[in-house]
Order: sequence, then C-alpha cells, then structure tokens
Amino acid sequence: MGRASVAIKIGDGQAETPARISPISCGECPSGASSPVPTEETKHLWHELLHDASFYAFLLEADRDLAAQARERGCLRCGGRLDSARYRRKPRGAPVELPAGWDRRESFCCDDCRKRVTPPSLRYLGRRVYAAMVVVLAWVLRQGVTPWRAERLRELVGVHRRTLARWRAWWVERFVQTELWRAKRGRFLPPVAEDELPSSLLERFSGELRERLASMLRFILPVTTTSCPPAWART
Ligand SMILES: [Zn+2]
Repeated sequence: MGRASVAIKIGDGQAETPARISPISCGECPSGASSPVPTEETKHLWHELLHDASFYAFLLEADRDLAAQARERGCLRCGGRLDSARYRRKPRGAPVELPAGWDRRESFCCDDCRKRVTPPSLRYLGRRVYAAMVVVLAWVLRQGVTPWRAERLRELVGVHRRTLARWRAWWVERFVQTELWRAKRGRFLPPVAEDELPSSLLERFSGELRERLASMLRFILPVTTTSCPPAWART
C-alpha cells in the first residue's frame, strides 16, 4: 500500500514530535532558513504528487486509523460508545480519480448522549470541500520565480482565483491565530515567516516531498475538527 512509502506514523506515540524542525541557521548561509519560494523543479514534483493516486490512498487509510483511535477512546463528553455516523463529502480539487471511500468523512455519534464526534482528518481541512493537500499546495504552486497563473491552477484543481485568495487569507490571518499555531510556532527556529504561509511552514518539514506534505497535514490536524482534537494535541 501507499502507506508503506510514507514514513510517518499517526499514532499517539508521535505525541512529542509533531514535526521535524529545521536546525537553527549556521550563520554562514546567506539567508538562514531556505527560501519558502519553491523552485520550478520542486513545483514540478508537487504537481506530480497531486496526481499520485497512492498518496490519496495513504491519506484515506490514515484517516481511518485516526477514526479507529477516536472510536476506541469513546465519547469525550460521557465516555459512551460511538456509533458510526459518516457523512458524505464531495471532495474537490484532486486531479485524479479518488479511491473508494474518499467521499465519506469519518464521524461518530455517541450512543448515549448523541454528541457528534468528528475525528481529525488528513484529507479534509474543516468544512472546506477541497482536499486539504490542495489547500496547502495551491498557494505553493502559485508562488515562485515564474508563478503559476490562476488559470492554470483552475485547470488543475478547479480552484477559482477568489477561493485561492480566501485560502491565502485563512493561512496568514486565521491559521496564525489558532491555538495550535500559538502553541507550536515557538518550536521553529528561525521563526516561520507567517506572511509566507503555507509555503514557509511546508518547507520546514524534512524528507521526500510526500513525507513533508504528510508531516504538514499531520501537524495541522488539530484545526481540522472542533469536536475531537487528536490525542497528541490534548494535554
Ligand atoms: Zn456521550
């Protein structure tokens, strides 16, 4: 399965190391952290990853793991048993045929108090209909020495210029205000350039591109749900 090729774990064991973080600047490099502006070569590789069906399969499998963990914990309000209450999402933005099951958001309902519990997700960023990876990568592709035109992104992932602007505003205005970011941003040295999000955060994760993207999606898991924070984010 695609999962084997992505060297991250979703389990609780990773609690204290949500992200591998760049070393502090050596002082000899001209600009400290590398530029968040992706090179054309990197953009080409991101573009390829957007077409990699195995990556989408990995994300689906990871979400199922997260759902299984949430179910095991039971209702966070009363400890009751959780019944499956998946709901349909019509995912947009993926330029490939998605694996069966991708159009279902894992969710539960407490058998006792009826509270809904929607586990965090590597696929869906809150209520957005676009795949989370598209919400990350669209802006990354837009940037660069020869930025992708909005029309090209629209052809690839169906994102309109206005939507793209909204996402951009979300990263630089709303994401930076989240509890997650306020708690974790201090771990990045040198600090992540908040006005360059999401590229500036993505480039801080190490490994192959798919590992980096998976690490970033995992890092932002706490903002993908309000009803069921991931275990490692609950202290
Ligand atoms: Zn309950």
